[in-house]
Amino acid sequence: MTHFSDLGLNPQLVRACDDQGYSTPTDIQEKAIPLLLKGHDVLGIAQTGTGKTAAYALPILMQCKYAQGSNPRALILAPTRELVIQIEEVFRSLSKYTDLRILAIYGGLGPRTQIDAINNGIDLLIATPGRFMELYLKEVIITKELKTLVLDEADKMMDMGFMPQIRKILEVIPIKKRQNALFSATFPEKVENLSFEFLEYPHKIEITPQATTAVNVEQSAYDVPNLKTKLAALKYFLEQEGFDRVMVFCRSKLVANDLEQYLLENLLKEKDDNLTADDIREGQTAV
Ligand code: AMP
Repeated sequence: MTHFSDLGLNPQLVRACDDQGYSTPTDIQEKAIPLLLKGHDVLGIAQTGTGKTAAYALPILMQCKYAQGSNPRALILAPTRELVIQIEEVFRSLSKYTDLRILAIYGGLGPRTQIDAINNGIDLLIATPGRFMELYLKEVIITKELKTLVLDEADKMMDMGFMPQIRKILEVIPIKKRQNALFSATFPEKVENLSFEFLEYPHKIEITPQATTAVNVEQSAYDVPNLKTKLAALKYFLEQEGFDRVMVFCRSKLVANDLEQYLLENLLKEKDDNLTADDIREGQTAV
C-alpha cells in the first residue's frame, strides 16, 4: 500500500498528513503528486471529495518549502469565496510544520485587511479571479515570482463567466518556467480548449467518481410536470409518517430560501394557524 512518504514528500508534510488523519493517498493524490513534484503540468478531472485539493497543495508546499521574500510564488484560483476559504484551510493544515505564509483573498468585503497581509509578505496566494485582478491592478500583488498556477474547479469558473478575467490573469503572470495545473469536475469542450491554452504537454488524470449510493439506500424518482406539483408532492411526502428527518437539496441558495419559506408557511403553519413564518423560524424546535 502506498504511503505519503513514498510519493517524495518531506517528513514535515507527511507528519501533517498523519495529523489530518490521511493514512493513505487517494487515487488522485497518488497519481498527481509525483507528476507535479517532477514539474509537469497536470490536467485533473476530479470532483470535490476525491482529495484533489491536497493533490496539488502538497507538491506546492514541498516546492515552496519555507517563507522566502515577500511576493507570492504560487497562485491558486478558485470560483467562489467559500471554495477559496476551504482551500486555504487545507493549505494551512498541511503546512503546519513549515513557516510558509498563506493567504486567501476574495470579494464581498473591503480589501484593506487583505492588502495589509499581502504587504507583510506572503508565499502562497489563493484567490477568486475578481479580487486577484483588483489587487493586481492596484499594484498590491506582484506577480514576478509566481512559478505555479492552479485553476481549481475550472468548469465552474467558466460557467460563472470568469473566462475574460482568467485570460487577463494568464497574461500578467510570467510564463517562463511556470508550472500549471487545471482541475475540473467535468471536461466539456470549453474546459478542453482552456487546457490547450493554459497547459504545456499536460498529463491528464481522470478520476471516476466512486459509487455514491450505499446498497441499502432505496432511491425513487418522480416525474413532476411543474413547480406546483413538485411542491405539492414534497408537502405530501413530508406529511407521511417516517419523514421526520428529511434533507432537501436545491439548485441554489435562492431556491432553498424560497422553499424554506414555503414549507414554513404551508406545512408547519397548518399545525397552528396563528403562527407566522417568522415565529416558526425563531422557535423552530418548539414546533
Ligand atoms: P477535496 O476533494 O480536496 O475537497 O477533499 C475532500 C475531503 O477528503 C477533505 O475533507 C479532505 O480533508 C479529505 N482527504 C483528502 N485527502 C485525504 C486522504 N488521503 N485520506 C483521507 N481523507 C482525505
